[in-house]
Amino acid sequence: MPALPHGPRIAIVGGGIGGLAAAAFLRRAGLTATVHEQAAELTEVGAGIIMAPNAVRLLRRLDVMRTFLRRAVELEWGWEFRRWADGSVLSVENLTDACEELYGERTYVTRRSDLLDTIRSAVPSTWLRLGERCVSVEASPDDVLLRFADGSRAEADVVIGADGVHSVVRGVLAGRTPPEYSGVCAFRTVVPAHAAPAFALRPAQTIWLGPGRHLVHYPIAGGSAVNVAAFAPAGDHVEESWSATATTEEFHAEFADWDPRVTDLVLAGGRPGRWALLDRAPLRQWSRGRVTLLGDAAHPMYPFFAQGAAQSIEDAAVLAICLATSPDDPEQALKRYESARIPRTTRLQEFSHARRDTNHLPDGPEQETRDTSLAASDPLVTAGWIYGHDAEAALTT
Ligand SMILES: Cc1cc2nc3c(=O)[nH]c(=O)nc-3n(C[C@H](O)[C@H](O)[C@H](O)COP(=O)(O)OP(=O)(O)OC[C@H]3O[C@@H](n4cnc5c(N)ncnc54)[C@H](O)[C@@H]3O)c2cc1C
Repeated sequence: MPALPHGPRIAIVGGGIGGLAAAAFLRRAGLTATVHEQAAELTEVGAGIIMAPNAVRLLRRLDVMRTFLRRAVELEWGWEFRRWADGSVLSVENLTDACEELYGERTYVTRRSDLLDTIRSAVPSTWLRLGERCVSVEASPDDVLLRFADGSRAEADVVIGADGVHSVVRGVLAGRTPPEYSGVCAFRTVVPAHAAPAFALRPAQTIWLGPGRHLVHYPIAGGSAVNVAAFAPAGDHVEESWSATATTEEFHAEFADWDPRVTDLVLAGGRPGRWALLDRAPLRQWSRGRVTLLGDAAHPMYPFFAQGAAQSIEDAAVLAICLATSPDDPEQALKRYESARIPRTTRLQEFSHARRDTNHLPDGPEQETRDTSLAASDPLVTAGWIYGHDAEAALTT
């Protein structure tokens, strides 16, 4: 193949956390890219997001920590599991010095829009093309043609599908099968700090486990609000959308007999969002020719390990190194990228899947065994394979 004179023309479809992270890491690696985002503005609708050490170490290499820390909250306790009925603590991680000593970074929570702005600050604005909804991807051995809903087109040497769980680009590689509904729906609300119980303002990620349900809360936006996300049976509700809503009464009804600290928090929140969680089995292959996938387009996972966005940032860092190392041979670069990433993201997809059942056990012997094992293990240490991972170093060792 002839050498590409100015590096490959790289098109990224989707300007979410994964797509922007890909652009930022490509820039750091000395390459250029164009991000085609369907929305007219870059924005993240959901509320809070946890950034664990494996993602934070990569954000630091983008030189964006000063921006990130302006709005993020540093967690002191994480995975603070509590029993639904009385709030008794089943286990908790120390996320201060112990976390940094083990993994070299701490853990933070932030608003999704603040994280997106942070990553965007590392991407030249001239790289962003908004209002471009990709409708088709036509790949030939030499290049790839993208077509957009407004009739425009773009040619590229490499296409990265970072277009989320309903990915159009994934359709090219794996067929256009719709995702499956999980039977679980997520409620989310934000409680302003002045209305939140002091308990919920602690720099802690607290998880209440109960029969068929669990609820997570942590402070966001520099401590000015509390993010609440809860998971319950979906019933007939199958809409997967960050803008779908429920009523506070519907949300409260799911947790009515739980510890009053939980119900007080639910009642103090604004109008809740509700959406059905989607599921896809892991893919064995993410790339075909010059087209590849990244983030939720490649490996959507239940959010029960809080790792979906972190994995998209890891994907981005690894993909940029692979493309920069073999700029004249994108196909080889994409093969190297997927072999480095698929085993890890598949494992996380499977673990997150299994956690749905363990988090939602009915009271009884299995739940007692789970609670005993939570108490007996230090989750900070058992999660070492997640937090301790350095995606870039793993590629070169
Ligand atoms: C309740 C919940 C809590 C979570 N908590 C955490 C957490 O604490 N930590 C964590 O790491 N992860 C968490 N996640 C997972 C995380 O939100 C996702 O993994 C992450 O947002 C995936 O990013 P992405 O860029 O791959 O996809 P998306 O965020 O879905 O972005 C895709 C982008 O592509 C655009 N797009 C789509 N189709 C097209 C098209 N045809 N043409 C052009 N553009 C297109 C979209 O507009 C969007 O901007 C959570 C998820 C949920 C549901």
